[in-house]
Amino acid sequence: MRTIYLILTGLVFLILTSAGCRQQQAPDGTKSSAEIDAQVDKLLSQMSIEEKVGQMTQVTLDVISATRNDSILEPHQIDTAKLREAVIGHHVGSILNVTKHCFSREYWYKIMASIQDMAMKSPHKIPVLYGIDAIHGNNYAEKSILFPQQIAMAATWNPALAEQAASITAYETRAAAIPWNFSPVLDLGRKASWPRMWETFGEDVYLTSQMTRAMIKGYEGDNIADKYKVASCMKHYLGYSFPLSGKDRTPAWIPDNYLREYFLPPFAAAINVGAHTIMINSAEINGVPVHASHYLLTEVLRDEHGFEGLAVSDFEDIIRLYTKHHVAATPKEAVKMAVMAGIDMSMVPYNYSFYDLLLELVKEGEVPESRINEAVRRILKLKFELGLFEHPYYPAEDYPDYGSEKHRMASEEAAKECITLLKNENDVLPLPKTAKVLVTGFAANTMVCLNGGWSRSWLGIDADIFDSDKLTILEAIQAKIGQKNVSWAEGTTFDSLTDINKALQLGRSADYIVLCLGEMSYAESPGSIGDMYLPEAQAELAVKLASTGKPVILVLTEGRPRLISKFADKMSGVVMAYLPGNEGGIAIADVLFGDVNPSGKLPFTYPREPNALSNYDEKYTELVPDVVTIPQFEFGAGLSYTTFAYSNLVVSPAEITLNDSLSISVDVSNTGTRQGKEVVQLYISDLYASITPPVKRLRGFKKIALEPGQKETVRFKIHPNELAFVDATSKWVTEPGEFEVTIGNQKTKFLVK
Ligand code: BGC
Repeated sequence: MRTIYLILTGLVFLILTSAGCRQQQAPDGTKSSAEIDAQVDKLLSQMSIEEKVGQMTQVTLDVISATRNDSILEPHQIDTAKLREAVIGHHVGSILNVTKHCFSREYWYKIMASIQDMAMKSPHKIPVLYGIDAIHGNNYAEKSILFPQQIAMAATWNPALAEQAASITAYETRAAAIPWNFSPVLDLGRKASWPRMWETFGEDVYLTSQMTRAMIKGYEGDNIADKYKVASCMKHYLGYSFPLSGKDRTPAWIPDNYLREYFLPPFAAAINVGAHTIMINSAEINGVPVHASHYLLTEVLRDEHGFEGLAVSDFEDIIRLYTKHHVAATPKEAVKMAVMAGIDMSMVPYNYSFYDLLLELVKEGEVPESRINEAVRRILKLKFELGLFEHPYYPAEDYPDYGSEKHRMASEEAAKECITLLKNENDVLPLPKTAKVLVTGFAANTMVCLNGGWSRSWLGIDADIFDSDKLTILEAIQAKIGQKNVSWAEGTTFDSLTDINKALQLGRSADYIVLCLGEMSYAESPGSIGDMYLPEAQAELAVKLASTGKPVILVLTEGRPRLISKFADKMSGVVMAYLPGNEGGIAIADVLFGDVNPSGKLPFTYPREPNALSNYDEKYTELVPDVVTIPQFEFGAGLSYTTFAYSNLVVSPAEITLNDSLSISVDVSNTGTRQGKEVVQLYISDLYASITPPVKRLRGFKKIALEPGQKETVRFKIHPNELAFVDATSKWVTEPGEFEVTIGNQKTKFLVK
């Protein structure tokens, strides 16, 4: 029997987490972590138990609002008596969200000023920590820059763009006096039907971890007291994205070794770069709701990974241990379970039940005050680190770049790099700018399909009202080639045919048809589906348009890969735009007409069949011979208007021990006629292992730009630790044996001894 080298968690996590390396920051530039700790201890010693439990309570803006109606344009008002009740009466530590829709930046200032001014009247003048879902820009503030959603950022395979987007988002969020952002989502998008797929960086652990680091750095910088930075929130810890049913907030069954190998590393990466807060998965893993899991919330998160920051529950999820999960027999038991498992703050969020029940539990000795102190210490520390005690908010004039052209251009740049060209039969693209083009499909003339959820409102359905000055795909094409060259018919709504005959008639007299299909915007559970196919009406429009004989270019705006196999073969071109944000229309038009050479790559596998939803790093046994398992488009796929050739893959040395590093190099040449960017993807296969190995794993990538005729040697360094997997006993191991490296069409092997 061969020797198995065990690499204990500590060793692998030197690379994957190294919690111990977390920087001790001096948030306001002068105070050290120890000084802040002393301030926190002093404050804590002066606080009553009511004040402490209040700090652990988070309520929504609705709770302190005079109005709570359904109109998206209603004038909002703070109710001062309710605000006093929350901040002074119940000592709440945190408030979140908006009511029904976004506000102007000026109005956010008013809200924040009222809240913080009230907090300054409390005995200890503890500022309120305001939190918001600024997930692709500060979307709840009017005129803020909306970036591509996370799945689209992942498709750029360009972490620098993710960092830039996060940095601007931090600026624009603080510009509305909000210091805490519930982003990024670190759940792995390994379940194509999951309605929050678009909030993820896709299905791969390595790509997700790289983008995670970049985004956290962009949000937090080196110092979250910086008035242009926010505290990030890694979410939703852990295993949220892999429900068996594919539907939101339903049970996942994930063995401990896969939980650690696939779902944990992005969180470990975020902890390693100093992420300050974490939000918990609303659902359950292996029958245990994560909000009640001491194992995950304390043993794995704190003891193993050294996370020292604040853990907040998700929306209403503590009470749901009683109402939904049935693991607590009373609401009070639910509170005890969650707090003792390791939750520091409860997103209650509509009332003070958590406050009342926790107070009772402490007074009865059911929850020790030491646990309360631990939680409150983390909350106060974050407030000190954010500099909120000194500056509950900064002057509005300090943010001259809010919504600026400079910021907008960053969004356009990201949108251009995410667009992924998946099919280009006979080089139909780019289209000539002199062509007559029919633009059709329900996604063609709305900002809603470009932005998706969490865009000005939770479900994102109001983007056409708040972002009416932005260009839809139709408008951007008209702007590029002139109105007279563009005809337009909607053809279909999301799921029913409208003016299909007009579309067909116009299609027959056009040179090309640009067909814009995809999803309606949605968020969370309302996005759950039972059918992965795009609606029948959209498929019918596609098939009928193809029957005109004119080349049809399919443009997809969607948050997850809805199946197109019924008509994809009839399309001459397929352009995946994901949810590219407010500048998506411009970016799509630039790609269609060749002003931008596409360089996005799929961050997930695009399935062909509803019963073949596996990921690219599937097992050998998933390659079932008699069944179609070839996806519609593979993970990492994406064409260019130029061509790239790979040669000269060199791996050295050909044999290594566990202490050596491996150098891998490959030559990449631009063999076409225009400048282009290529994502060089390094895959390594562990050919035989003690538990069934995946056919390949992404272990590195580099995005490079090459002029025509230019050649670059791309180099990677790999340590055997980076080839480790989690074995059946939940230990990280690199087993000796043969490995295969694949880059482009190049392959070679090496041995680990
Ligand atoms: C979502 C979180 C979000 C929170 C606050 C929850 O329903 O799951 O992702 O941050 O609401 O809006």
